[in-house]
Amino acid sequence: MIINPYESAKKKIDIAAELINLDPNTLEYLKKTERALIVSVPIMMDDGSLEIFEGYRVHHSTLRGPGKGGVRFSPFVTLDEMKALALLMTFKTALLGLPLGGSKGGIRVDTKKLSNRELEVLTRRYTMEIINMIGPDRDVAAPDMYTDSTTMAWMMDTYSMQKGRTISGVVTGKPIDIGGSIGRAEAPGTGMIYLLRHLCQKLNYNLNKMSVVIQGFGKVGSVVAKQLCNNSCNVIAISEEEGGIYSPTGLDIDMLIKWKQQGNLLKDYESKNSSPITNAELLSTECDVLIPAAVENQIYSGNADKIDCKIILEGANSPTTSQADEILEEKEIVVVPDIIANSGGVCVSYFEYIQDMQSYFWKLDRVNKEMKTILLYSFEEIFKFSKKTDSSLRTAAYAISANRLAKAHELRGLFP
Ligand code: GLU
Repeated sequence: MIINPYESAKKKIDIAAELINLDPNTLEYLKKTERALIVSVPIMMDDGSLEIFEGYRVHHSTLRGPGKGGVRFSPFVTLDEMKALALLMTFKTALLGLPLGGSKGGIRVDTKKLSNRELEVLTRRYTMEIINMIGPDRDVAAPDMYTDSTTMAWMMDTYSMQKGRTISGVVTGKPIDIGGSIGRAEAPGTGMIYLLRHLCQKLNYNLNKMSVVIQGFGKVGSVVAKQLCNNSCNVIAISEEEGGIYSPTGLDIDMLIKWKQQGNLLKDYESKNSSPITNAELLSTECDVLIPAAVENQIYSGNADKIDCKIILEGANSPTTSQADEILEEKEIVVVPDIIANSGGVCVSYFEYIQDMQSYFWKLDRVNKEMKTILLYSFEEIFKFSKKTDSSLRTAAYAISANRLAKAHELRGLFP
């Protein structure tokens, strides 16, 4: 079954809107995309041939401030995926109370097939093509799947060259030497650990004794796995696109990180106590905490009934469909939704943005302390609202954001 990501994202707003009796006009307004740009990105390949890639930048909403959202390079990027992820960003920034909107961009490309030079020219040409959509007071980009601090450095440099001066606030997630924030790279994972520890305290679970399964070993999955091991949790399974590895007694994450750095696949790792596992098997592995930290729609109506855990902590954006949500609710699995679970990333992006504006850079303990305050405060709001309205954490989170966006819409009024 093919799930349209934009339709799926809008469904989540519909459910929340019903809970809070949102005015139908406002609901329509909140579901629409403010603007979307489709660009062709031509580049000269190393072999002298010309390749043209399709790229996008989408502003879902700038109601509460400049757009904010990542740039994704993946073979599966489509306009509807960008619209869905931009909408998610609007609800994520509103939920944290940040003075930002929501946006997303990307290029449909398999970066594994590009040389470093090809990747750099692709990034720079893409930045040039979307230059009128971005800027510190318009829309601030950041890393997402298959983009990183190097991508952000190229984007910042291209933008600055065009404007004739260094403008570091156009992107976040930059290298620290050129205006990046300390703690930003690890922020989604760090935030997830703060939230998980807090939730476990509330539910009277002992985090240190919990078994954890993680789908994804990228920027989010690997950081969270390492931090969980530091907390003496048992990470019993972890995977990447090609498959994963399972050990009932717990995996040695430091060894696996080294193994990956040597260019190997997780499933090829051999040890006495571990065995390879497919992504489908991984998702139905019995555990205390399941962390989907890969791509969208991994938990859907076809596999939700096989999920065997107490808590789902969504590291990826939109890993669970609305139909799956209903099944998980019946099974009484607590789902910590993406818009709060992985929001440490955009939270520290916001800190980076204000540090750039002020040319004053914080120390790591300030970054983490302020992130923790914002995340736990938002989580408490969601938790209380979900109890009060007898709704899931996801519906409560969307409802809180929808209320904030509706208020901003009402206060600003409609132009002209
Ligand atoms: N791509 C990340 C996300 O989906 C970070 C966005 C940002 O920092 O602006 O939340």
